Amino acid sequence: MEHVRVAIIGAGFGGIGLAIRLRQEGIGPVLVLEKADGIGGTWRDNTYPGAACDVPSHLYSFSFERKPDWSRRFGEQTEILDYLRHCTEKYEIEPRLSTEVHEAVFQDGRWLLTTSTGTVLADVVVSATGQLNRPAVPDLPGLETFAGKAFHSARWDHAHDLTGRDVAVIGTGASAIQFVPHVAEQAGSLTVYQRSAPWVVAKSDRTYGRWEHRLFAAVPAVQDLNRALMYTLLESRALGFVSWPGLLKTMERGSLKRLREEIADPELRRKLTPDYPLGCKRVLISDEYYPAVRRPHVEVVTDAVKEVRPEGIVTGDGTLRRADTLIFGTGFRATEFLAPMRVTGRDGTTLDEAWRDGAEAHHGIAVHGFPNLYLLYGPNTNLGHSSIVYMIESQIAYILGCVRSGRVLEVRAEAQSRFAATMRERSKRSVWTAGCESWYLTDGRNTNNWPGYTFAYRRATRRPDPADFQVLPAPRAAAVPDPAVPGGAAAQDLG
Ligand SMILES: Cc1cc2nc3c(=O)[nH]c(=O)nc-3n(C[C@H](O)[C@H](O)[C@H](O)COP(=O)(O)OP(=O)(O)OC[C@H]3O[C@@H](n4cnc5c(N)ncnc54)[C@H](O)[C@@H]3O)c2cc1C
Repeated sequence: MEHVRVAIIGAGFGGIGLAIRLRQEGIGPVLVLEKADGIGGTWRDNTYPGAACDVPSHLYSFSFERKPDWSRRFGEQTEILDYLRHCTEKYEIEPRLSTEVHEAVFQDGRWLLTTSTGTVLADVVVSATGQLNRPAVPDLPGLETFAGKAFHSARWDHAHDLTGRDVAVIGTGASAIQFVPHVAEQAGSLTVYQRSAPWVVAKSDRTYGRWEHRLFAAVPAVQDLNRALMYTLLESRALGFVSWPGLLKTMERGSLKRLREEIADPELRRKLTPDYPLGCKRVLISDEYYPAVRRPHVEVVTDAVKEVRPEGIVTGDGTLRRADTLIFGTGFRATEFLAPMRVTGRDGTTLDEAWRDGAEAHHGIAVHGFPNLYLLYGPNTNLGHSSIVYMIESQIAYILGCVRSGRVLEVRAEAQSRFAATMRERSKRSVWTAGCESWYLTDGRNTNNWPGYTFAYRRATRRPDPADFQVLPAPRAAAVPDPAVPGGAAAQDLG
């Protein structure tokens, strides 16, 4: 059976970044397993018109692989995907594509992975499956009877020409706000079904000039300074998100002023006015959304969707609005980390069972009962204000520290509980628990966001603290576990 030192599941920013850093450290063999037929994760899947990052590209990229020639401040999907392809080529990372990991079982001190193309034995497994990888489609009554074309924004049907169509968009989150202006350009009519109004702030996007590209390339320190400035500016928002939500009032006032200036119709303005504090859900940046929804052939509907019929959508008040195209901008199954993979730990417990009350992991990375399993972009590591790539790089440093030890490490239950308690305590003060429903929460508890400053997270994850881990017996050299028997080496308190 194939045996590797580290198996990485997923070839997005996380999996690629870790594979590069392991290679730089001379740790191997490393195998990156990717279920799709290409690399890129988020940036391979989200090809909808207008798809772009909403954190400036100079910050939303690896610190060890700077790109001086980003074409604009907020890079578009194709440019980000090209950047990731460049990274894999330059560092010779060759993920095994079209290989989905179905199951991971810890046995005799190692992990046995069952994939769609065979089994693999790994000393260490890192899940880099992302939080926003599995589209969420609401279970609307009658959806299967819809006679037109229906698709999710992360599975955009480019063969379906929208020109002159009657398009219904369900959802007004971060993806919808990017594609709605483009759909409005083409559609004959566009109905946007909104559950709650998003807070929208100015995007201030712009292209970079040739002279800036040349300057960034010739004087890397200028690019570093630019990155540092962006980092500091975005980080200042964390003050409001996690410590003093009152500080976000200024941003709220600015957003409402813009709404008044952009939307003259009082009824539409009322619909577009959020009824929860700014930051509670993801703050959206766009200069195009309000001008798009005020167009005469666009309607924003706030009545709840009751059912789908072959010819369109019926809302709670019984109104049927015709549609021949239905686009779901309804986001992702973000709180179901690692699903649908079945992960069985040291004593036969599955991750699903361990996370019955919501996902938790020490620093969002290590889970008690699951030795030598590490998570990238795991629980409590999402951000509302800055770059996930920055968080992923912090996690990579921590995981490298664990892998370098060459041991079988299991995080102690007390360390994980302490961390979870801190997360709960800090989340209480945060804006995310200020009374709105969002994908950050599981049963009202913040399972997804990091309730703090990203520099504090970096400091905490610079290296693993040996006191947080117990060391398990090393696996026997030639041990090939029996896939039929879950569980394995018992934990010893050797820390
Ligand atoms: C439209 C959109 C815009 C975004 N914009 C920003 C932004 O501006 N700034 C920001 O910080 N973040 C943004 N994000 C969040 C984004 O998801 C992260 O920044 C980052 O791309 C996550 O990388 P990842 O590698 O952790 O996960 P992903 O990019 O989701 O990659 C996970 C990979 O794992 C693979 N995989 C999953 N399960 C399995 C399995 N069982 N077996 C094998 N392979 C598997 C998937 O196919 C995928 O390729 C955005 C997200 C979306 C959806």
